Amino acid sequence: MTQRRILFFASKSYDENTFRAALKSLNGQDKLHFTFLEMMLVIQKSWKKYMACDTVKIIALRSAGYSGSSVEIAKQYGLHVCRVPSYSPHAVAEHAVALLLSLNRNMHHAFFRTKQHNFSLDGLVGIDLFGKTVGIIGAGIVGMCAIKIFLGFGCKVLAYDIKPNENAAREQGFQYVTIDELLTESDIISLHAPLNDSTYHLINREALNKMKFDAMLINTSRGPLVDAKALVDCLKSGKLRGAALDVYEHEDKYFYKNYSQRIMNDDILARLISMHNTIVTSHQAFLTEEALKTIAESIIQNFLEFFNQLQTDGVKE
Ligand code: NAD
Repeated sequence: MTQRRILFFASKSYDENTFRAALKSLNGQDKLHFTFLEMMLVIQKSWKKYMACDTVKIIALRSAGYSGSSVEIAKQYGLHVCRVPSYSPHAVAEHAVALLLSLNRNMHHAFFRTKQHNFSLDGLVGIDLFGKTVGIIGAGIVGMCAIKIFLGFGCKVLAYDIKPNENAAREQGFQYVTIDELLTESDIISLHAPLNDSTYHLINREALNKMKFDAMLINTSRGPLVDAKALVDCLKSGKLRGAALDVYEHEDKYFYKNYSQRIMNDDILARLISMHNTIVTSHQAFLTEEALKTIAESIIQNFLEFFNQLQTDGVKE
């Protein structure tokens, strides 16, 4: 098989390390040649000439989602587009729990205090999670992992999902409820639903108003599930105990980039970061060695199968 050239866009050091290791473990070094670029790929209609002459054959997304205008354009030109349907759901669920534990027990303050030899405990009081009610919105693959962890903590778990799995609820020991019941009864709400028309701003001003006083909100799903401006207003009113976000509705401009020496113009994001009772991470819930390995191996397998098929079909190149 001819050695195929693969260009990686928006690649980070961890991408290069894991993809090179996975290529070696799958014995694909003589079949695929990798070049890693930091620049983003934005497919424009002017790319038609490359696609039409078959220069580019396949686009692989190092993510689960298919959304984005680049993908739409690629599909219009008949390019094969693949993705990784599922990597480690545990990585995402565990990050949601890490965010909750940090927020609740004020780890983000304790860490900096002891670094400065400040051993006071004022303002660090949390709550026991044991016996509290956790509401999971979206009890799919990641949501189910989160449910099992919270049940292990001795929490009561409520779930809201448009496709409830009553068998799982019976077996695991949690309960499906309506969205309103979940909002009004939960001490902690963790979002695990995908972004679609029905989930855009699911947590809006009205939903925040329905939440319990002193509740905590965790979002590791997709930013636009939460109306960030409404969340800032709610936090400013003192209603919530806190919020921890791995995703933000306008994250594309900032997340994964180093803005430490640049002006950040997003005042909502700046406010969310600066509050004492918030934690923001930069869409890193997936970032474990296991998830990266699964992503790399799955994409490389896709490439090998795709190019093998081209050869079998005798497609002229
Ligand atoms: P999944 O498809 O297995 O589960 C999603 C669940 O949400 C399904 O059970 C579905 O029925 C339910 N759902 C759909 N619309 C709903 C609605 N309107 N209200 C309530 N429930 C609804 O997906 P998953 O693999 O569990 O992923 C969950 C989320 O985690 C996705 O949004 C995904 O983008 C996100 N994610 C985040 C990261 C990260 O690094 N932060 C990484 C991977 C996945």
